Amino acid sequence: MRTRFTEMFGIRYPIVQGGMQWVGRAELAAAVSNAGALGIITALTQPTPEDLLREIARCRDMTDQPFAVNLTILPTLRAVSHAHYAQAIIDSGVKIVETAGRNPEPYMASFKAAGVKIIHKCTSVRHSLKAQAIGCDAVSVDGFECAGHPGEDDIPGLVLLPRAAEQLKIPIIASGGFGDGRGLVAALALGADGINMGTRFMATVEAPIHQNIKDSIVAASERDTALLMRRLRNTARFFRNRVAQEAEAVERMKGADLTIQDLAPFVSGQRGRLVYEQGDVDAGVWSAGMVVGLIHDVPTCAELVSRIVREAREIISERLMKTMA
Ligand code: NAD
Repeated sequence: MRTRFTEMFGIRYPIVQGGMQWVGRAELAAAVSNAGALGIITALTQPTPEDLLREIARCRDMTDQPFAVNLTILPTLRAVSHAHYAQAIIDSGVKIVETAGRNPEPYMASFKAAGVKIIHKCTSVRHSLKAQAIGCDAVSVDGFECAGHPGEDDIPGLVLLPRAAEQLKIPIIASGGFGDGRGLVAALALGADGINMGTRFMATVEAPIHQNIKDSIVAASERDTALLMRRLRNTARFFRNRVAQEAEAVERMKGADLTIQDLAPFVSGQRGRLVYEQGDVDAGVWSAGMVVGLIHDVPTCAELVSRIVREAREIISERLMKTMA
């Protein structure tokens, strides 16, 4: 498959793995890149920038294909020096970065000087235009369906993607709600140059998380996610487990007086980490998108990517072509 995105980034298929906290480790990124898609290591999953350098080296041992590093710039409970992680990415020699959350402008000049291409992930047309204006090479446009932070506008992909395509000149990756060949074809039809999948790649053999979590994703329906932190203007979508429901109750009780201190015991990433490591679905909150309703198995990354490409080809050449005949 060839799109502006595959050409620009030198990958076989227009499929990107989402930058997921605690999940985006070398094993998964390498498996995705070996499957012909773009794997992503999540910078902040590594405790220090030095650990990130080691993780990138580990990934290089497992793949000779291009992979990227995600740098999420959002509020955190532990103090994080995003600048030091950005420098580690540059020092590692990785040539693709996915920035997410706040404006990546402070890091743009040094990324550009080092020949690093920047995909900025954002949740609105105005932020995508800003990303284009400051020199990002591509944007990953995240609809309301997505896991993690959907922004505050609540515009689903069906409207957000064509709106972005109307306005932008740079390649667009469609994110939020994608998990199969139908989604890939839809994204291309809406004007995107590829898809980003986070939750779908969690339910793969190589995802470095406990089997119980993969099984929970397979068992879940599209109604099994919950939005938290709306009142803090840092909305995030999580799997609707017991902890998420407790946090929802706190939000209702506190109303307009809610602060991050009220929610920190529930939403802490350190608790979320235990979910993935120990396989206790209720150990903390963990990110999941509405696409859980479309995930019915746990394939290898290679099986998943080739299935999506095959499905997309069949839909385009059989179903859609017949519609036009
Ligand atoms: P963490 O433990 O530092 O924080 C837990 C949650 O609380 C995060 O969602 C964070 O954004 C939020 N938070 C922290 N301080 C806040 C404040 N002062 N005001 C409002 N909200 C606040 O986070 P973590 O789980 O270790 O994750 C590290 C980074 O990765 C964070 O920036 C987090 O938002 C981000 N993240 C993104 C996604 C995603 O979008 N897919 C998923 C998980 C984490």
